[in-house]
Amino acid sequence: MSLGEVEVSVTPEEKFREFLQTKNLRMTRERATIVEHVFSSHEHFEAEQLIQQLAEQRVSRSTIYRTLKHLEEAGLIRKVARQDARDVFEHDYGYPQHDHLICKKCGTLIEFHQEKIAEVLTGVARDHGFRMEGHRLEVFGLCDNCCRPPKTRPKKLNLL
Ligand SMILES: [Zn+2]
Ligand SMILES: [Zn+2]
Repeated sequence: MSLGEVEVSVTPEEKFREFLQTKNLRMTRERATIVEHVFSSHEHFEAEQLIQQLAEQRVSRSTIYRTLKHLEEAGLIRKVARQDARDVFEHDYGYPQHDHLICKKCGTLIEFHQEKIAEVLTGVARDHGFRMEGHRLEVFGLCDNCCRPPKTRPKKLNLL
């Protein structure tokens, strides 16, 4: 399921370049390769997957980890909390606000958008005199697949 895209006036590459400038860093070939790859499709990904996918482009592991931190700081990607300690990243730029259902067993992430949640939180924030800028909600449990009872294996026919 895709939630579509939010129109942005500045490309992720441009936004990243601006961020790097504020840190006196250059857009190197490796950094450009990483941004391009990360924003070529909206998927949840782990650093290790990125390392494998970019192995042929000779982008080092340490550069990938450092660049992911920078992309996060720049507001381009964000971490999704999972319970298995492996960080999962996704686009935070050019992608609509959404929340996640997270399966504890297989790690599946299901994205959803529910206007009522934002409404409730706006009310809660108002009650506390709190200026809400956004929210993230991670719901843990078991996905449909993992809830199902294990299929009973068909008995093997003894052909001998
Ligand atoms: Zn599952
Ligand atoms: Zn997501």
